[in-house]
Amino acid sequence: MPAKEELQAQLEAAKRRLDELTEEVARNDDRMRRTQRRELKLLQAEDLDSLLKVLVEGLKLSFALEYVSVVLCDPDHDIRHLLIANGTPPEGHANLVLTESLTGLAPQYVALHKPWLGAFAACDHQLICPNADALNSMAMIPLKHRGKLLGSINLCSQDALRFRRDHANGFLEHLGIIASFCVENTINRARLLRSGFTDVLTGWNNRRYLIVRLGEELARARRDRAGIVCLMLDVDHFKRVNDTWGHAAGDAVLSELARRIETQIRASDVAARYGGEEFVVLLPNTLAASGMLLAERIRKEIAKSPFDLPCGETVRITVSIGISEGHPQADDEDLKTFGDSLVARADVALYAAKSAGRDRVFIESV
Ligand code: GH3
Ligand code: MG
Ligand code: MG
Repeated sequence: MPAKEELQAQLEAAKRRLDELTEEVARNDDRMRRTQRRELKLLQAEDLDSLLKVLVEGLKLSFALEYVSVVLCDPDHDIRHLLIANGTPPEGHANLVLTESLTGLAPQYVALHKPWLGAFAACDHQLICPNADALNSMAMIPLKHRGKLLGSINLCSQDALRFRRDHANGFLEHLGIIASFCVENTINRARLLRSGFTDVLTGWNNRRYLIVRLGEELARARRDRAGIVCLMLDVDHFKRVNDTWGHAAGDAVLSELARRIETQIRASDVAARYGGEEFVVLLPNTLAASGMLLAERIRKEIAKSPFDLPCGETVRITVSIGISEGHPQADDEDLKTFGDSLVARADVALYAAKSAGRDRVFIESV
């Protein structure tokens, strides 16, 4: 070949290689930008519920995959309870697997330090990919906290070549690190939020929780044109218990009191420890007459038998209960004031019950 043509051919080859490289750079650049966008979405997820949605639905969409699942080890049913408390129970999350132990769930969990890429095998992977169908390759990205395996994100494709053992997986590893951080972070945030709403002594919800729920229940009552009843309950002469047997005895009485109230109310009622020895029960969709019957049942349940104290003694306890009723209307825009007034009116009725001699139920006079 004459020197000039040879040179020309070399030039053409070099141009083609340059074009290929330019294309690859553009592809990588695009992939990097999409990965960054995905990771940003994970970091922006405000709670566990939305994070799980971004992981399962978001990753499926942005990777153009047929199937994605998330497995989380939840030995104490902690994550499950957090999701239930958030009003988004785990059953409502497609392709979320909460498990007491990762052992035996999929062979890869024995040593999942980095993303595992390979063939999808129904016998190995059906437990971590519920309702999966006709999949041929997968990437299991480990979710870790302080070096300990929490679970995995499982990206699955019908394309057998999509995730292969020899693929570079640096960006999947990066995604795993970000996702692990987000999972841990949202779980911690949910725990913190929940502990801020829970009374340690009785395990009941506290006043802060009640105020939030009251707003929600009033909005619901306004929408459904329903009534809502508020019971405010206060222990009679509780100081005497503390003064006679000490604070530990007082605490035991409060715990037992909460337990006895619980036996009388329904799951849809909202019960909270409002203050020291004051409890509030909200009865959605109820009228004062039914509230009165329930309050009487609670009062009798408490008065009927003495309370056991840690010191071995027993003490008779009675309570006074005040009742108010509310019917928020379409033009009641300020539900906060409405709620404050509902609770304050129950408190006034309670005060009247105390003045009338205690161990009784009083309904507000309207
Ligand atoms: P009354 O019939 O008028 O309600 O009388 P009372 O003695 O119950 O009156 P008051 O409401 O003034 O007393 C409540 C007492 O409850 C005072 C407080 O020290 C005590 N207390 C509040 N929270 C707790 C608690 O968590 N544990 C114990 N042991 N005592 C508490
Ligand atoms: Mg009191
Ligand atoms: Mg009292």
